[in-house]
Amino acid sequence: MLNPRASLRAAGLAVACGIAVTPAIALAEYPDKPVTLVVPFAAGGPSDKIARDVAEALRKTLNQTVVVENTTGAGGTIGTARVARANADGYTLLVHHIGLATAPSLYRKLGYKSSDLEFLGLINEAPSTLIGKPQLAPNTLADLRKLIAADGDKLNLANAGVGSASHLCGLMLQSMLKSKMTFVPYKGTGPAMSDLMGNQVDLMCEQATNSTPQIEGKKVKAYGVSSLQRSAVPALANVPTLNEAGLPGFNFTVWHGLYAPHGTPPAVLTKINTALRAALKDPELIKREEALGITVVTDDRLSPAGHKKFYETEVAHWGKIIQDAGIQPE
Ligand code: ASP
Repeated sequence: MLNPRASLRAAGLAVACGIAVTPAIALAEYPDKPVTLVVPFAAGGPSDKIARDVAEALRKTLNQTVVVENTTGAGGTIGTARVARANADGYTLLVHHIGLATAPSLYRKLGYKSSDLEFLGLINEAPSTLIGKPQLAPNTLADLRKLIAADGDKLNLANAGVGSASHLCGLMLQSMLKSKMTFVPYKGTGPAMSDLMGNQVDLMCEQATNSTPQIEGKKVKAYGVSSLQRSAVPALANVPTLNEAGLPGFNFTVWHGLYAPHGTPPAVLTKINTALRAALKDPELIKREEALGITVVTDDRLSPAGHKKFYETEVAHWGKIIQDAGIQPE
């Protein structure tokens, strides 16, 4: 009998050479060992949280261990490059967010191209929240604006590195307020949140995934939600939108998606996409996400083609915003 891994490699080789393979070969055997799900940010942050929820749900549908690996740094681009260069066998996958679409406008050089990745489906969409350390004096966005106008450069805004969601949201804030703050990069907003709660940094623009419980527990101050509509989640229901609280047009939603290295056999991609669709119907997962104010994707962007199309519109959308704001790539 053929070694299953060897036959999967053979199938991959055949695809690379343009030879039609029987999808059943790869399908029957995948996955016969643990799958690694790379998260390009630190543990305890929003990307890590959604990846762990998806890993758990995928484990049920793939009937195989799914291990989350945090490969951090440079706003998510290091972990992305790691997956772009990994074996295209379906055993190394990536959960990444909006940063994948903004990195091309924010970095002069990246260790990967988007064509190095296969798009496997969009996962979720979350609003962000502008939050402050407990000891920050202002209680409202209006008062915070006065403080930023007077002393913005003395205020530290924690973020997860250039191109991360918290960085992007901070850039939007600066551009709308026409003030500069001091950006403090972390390997993810998980560790940044600990520093914010401990009064070590002043502000952060953080996805509801990670901020809802801290707002509810009054561990941080909440100044506004980044979506145009208020969140329906009880902890956020009284938090105004940034749009209504004095920053008209502020609209920022963070999405996450699933990716594999380019050249992964089509039958394996189909199996992962099917497993993702099942994972996102998992009632436990839906309940956890909804309680935090996160929407699980159910539309056409859950298909590889829909995901890729959406990604391309986001690259164009953010490219223009970044260019119009005069932000120079690193
Ligand atoms: N998603 C990042 C994290 O999980 C945070 C960010 O992009 O701002 O740390």
